Amino acid sequence: MKYKPYSLYNFRKIPQIENLTEEQKFNIEVVGTVLPFKTNNYVIDELIDWDNFEEDPLFILNFPQKEMIDNDSFNKIAALLKNKASKQIVQQEVNKIRLKLNPNPAGQESNVPVFEGKKLNGIQHKYKEIMLFFPTQGQTCHAYCTFCFRWPQFALSEFKFAMKEADSMVSYLKANPKITDVLFTGGDPAVMKTRFFKEYINALLDADIPHLKNIRIGTKSLTFWPYRYTTDDDADELLELFEKVKRKGINIALMVHINHPRELKTKVVKRAVKRLISVGVQVRSQSPLLRKINDNADIWAKNWKEQVKMGIIPYYMFIARDTGAQDYFAVTLYRSWQIFRNAYNQISGICRTVRGPSMSCDPGKVQVVGVSEIKGEKVFVLNFLQGRDSSWVGKPFFAKFDPEAVWFDDLEPAFGDSKFFFEDAYFEMHA
Ligand code: SF4
Repeated sequence: MKYKPYSLYNFRKIPQIENLTEEQKFNIEVVGTVLPFKTNNYVIDELIDWDNFEEDPLFILNFPQKEMIDNDSFNKIAALLKNKASKQIVQQEVNKIRLKLNPNPAGQESNVPVFEGKKLNGIQHKYKEIMLFFPTQGQTCHAYCTFCFRWPQFALSEFKFAMKEADSMVSYLKANPKITDVLFTGGDPAVMKTRFFKEYINALLDADIPHLKNIRIGTKSLTFWPYRYTTDDDADELLELFEKVKRKGINIALMVHINHPRELKTKVVKRAVKRLISVGVQVRSQSPLLRKINDNADIWAKNWKEQVKMGIIPYYMFIARDTGAQDYFAVTLYRSWQIFRNAYNQISGICRTVRGPSMSCDPGKVQVVGVSEIKGEKVFVLNFLQGRDSSWVGKPFFAKFDPEAVWFDDLEPAFGDSKFFFEDAYFEMHA
């Protein structure tokens, strides 16, 4: 299949768009002016159920929906578009709305290291053992997910993380012997041509860094453009490169986003997974829990079972981040825990490699372990799966139970405490 992208400018040419009313098409235009919108012919032809598109999780995952921005913002942009306001005026209004959507969640800016007097804007180093690398050529995606927390990468240039130089990445890595893992991220690094991948990965391999144990690639390409690993011009070359990493004794892992089990249904996805595994790539899956997409235990259980059958390792269930269209997708922490538990109950031990539900927030990855009653108080039991300080990991702590809470910031310490156990150290770090 030849890749054909669609965006705000040409989506009316998608044949199936005929199924939508004029109002629905206009709504896409309004919301797509604020939040990034991009899809492709594979998602349209193979994944979306057009007979039921209004409720279809894959449609909602790809096409902006009216309720993804608040009414006031929607009406403002709608009026400007209807009145054919100048691009400049629309852009001014759009920027104001975007800045209200918390474009920089979890303090990402503070993860950017300064090295030899220079800010490395394409690196984030939050947890001691892992370095995130944002290659310049990988800062877009084959299609955009409407829930995406990385939306400012595509929409707000001043919030973009990106870096071209392999040399700086290697120098930083050499100077930080505690880093064992490099995670290529984006956007979606798998949009990069193999020649760019080679430039970065060969630089890492040639540097012979003994503490580098894992190269990870975070991507949605497996299910939004699986041809990247089968018939794209440079697919074979990419697999050869992955095999070379493995031969060098470094683990290579594809961290794939799989939001719904339907994404695993096509022949080409199955073939892509087989090819990746055959060259030694470890494929791990992760996804946020999203209202209207996968807020149902059976969907998760089905997804994990199918993944394991294909050789994919279930890895994370996340809670939708506090950015962009969070209000649209949010599931309460209480319900998230129930969904996780009910899904986990349905799977065998081999699928129980998955962790969650977890919030990636500024102090670290906080798991909602459960709800309990201690000393007569109903509480959330929480646990750091990852922490800015690794000594926080694995130490249970407690928050007052709040059935409406959707994110860590909504929680208060239990038992009348004024702060959580890690807060003094956390504020000191930021100071
Ligand atoms: S592929 Fe990843 S980075 Fe791209 S839109 Fe989806 S979630 Fe965001």
